[in-house]
Amino acid sequence: MEKIMCNRMDRGFNRYQEEFEQKALQVLRSGWYVLGKEVQSFEEEFASYTGASYCVGLASGLDALWIAFRVLGIGMGDEVIVPSNTYIASVMGITINGATPVFVEPDEYFNIDASKIEEKITDKTKAILVVHLYGQASNMAPIKSICEKYHLCLVEDCAQSHGAHFDGQMTGTFGDIGCFSFYPSKNMGAFGDGGAIVTNNAEIAEDVRVFRNYGSEKRYYNKVVGTNSRLDELQAGLLRVRLAHMKEITDEKISIAERYTKNINNPILQLPSIRNGADSVWHQYVIRCTERDRLQNYLEKRQIGTIIHYPIPPHLSEAYAYLGFRKGDFPIAEKYANEVISIPTYNGITEEEQNYIIQTLNKFH
Ligand SMILES: *Cc1c(COP(=O)(O)O)cnc(C)c1O
Repeated sequence: MEKIMCNRMDRGFNRYQEEFEQKALQVLRSGWYVLGKEVQSFEEEFASYTGASYCVGLASGLDALWIAFRVLGIGMGDEVIVPSNTYIASVMGITINGATPVFVEPDEYFNIDASKIEEKITDKTKAILVVHLYGQASNMAPIKSICEKYHLCLVEDCAQSHGAHFDGQMTGTFGDIGCFSFYPSKNMGAFGDGGAIVTNNAEIAEDVRVFRNYGSEKRYYNKVVGTNSRLDELQAGLLRVRLAHMKEITDEKISIAERYTKNINNPILQLPSIRNGADSVWHQYVIRCTERDRLQNYLEKRQIGTIIHYPIPPHLSEAYAYLGFRKGDFPIAEKYANEVISIPTYNGITEEEQNYIIQTLNKFH
């Protein structure tokens, strides 16, 4: 058997190859490449998929985050609550605007611990950024109540949670703005960079629509200083193909995860669990092990590729040295950074590959 890589995006392409190739040719031959019919159709279809009223396509997930805070008017002097174990892009979405991230430790499901949010709220707090990490929905009921009680904006980082629900409602639709990434390795991947926001607020949707195109509604008339963050026609067209198959893409991820949960039975390994009322679309299947580095070497030697999501929590990143945090400040995030390991869960992984991964993990001691 050839080496099992941690991700195989070619498998996801091959399954719908003909549809992707046809769509690519259609867009190339159309003579229209930016902000056209494909983007408009994609925005309508993705809004409808999430249950939100509006979607605006953007150039990346990071753009979705920082533009979200920009249009909400959150910047210098403001504080935004964010989980301490997230991918660093979540934090950059806050700090690009000059706002200050206030970290809250995660719970056992790797998502922000709702019971630890209130103690971090000050008179500068303007928003909570929840991150549905690894594909599992965060604990939205208490988080929504906190936002209402303290009049905070709620932004969701859904870069890993396309199609995941909490109490039957899709992530991205709980607060003011839901931010999505379509980076190729995400559950709903483009063939290059892409992103979007969804919202139920017409004014926010319009502000983002204007902001992404140099702040211009009408060509050469600029209302605000905006940016260039347009989703292109080719990516939008290819994303429409992916979106049409999201149910089977997600169902496959869930069945891979179920097989792992049912069959990995090594007591040294702590398997991921799902909160009551939440579901996961298993962007990553993340195991914890106190001897994580030895486990990763062991798997590598046996031709199984893995990744660590993420080895350095944002507060200890060199980029955020200016915030002045030290080792020990967020012990749960630091513990997770030392113990987590993601095993292959890509679409198109074969049963043989999954069985080999299960057997190899069960033999680790
Ligand atoms: C991927 C990701 C982002 C950033 O998305 P890009 O499209 O790469 O800019 C933000 N937040 C999380 C949690 C992510 O996984």
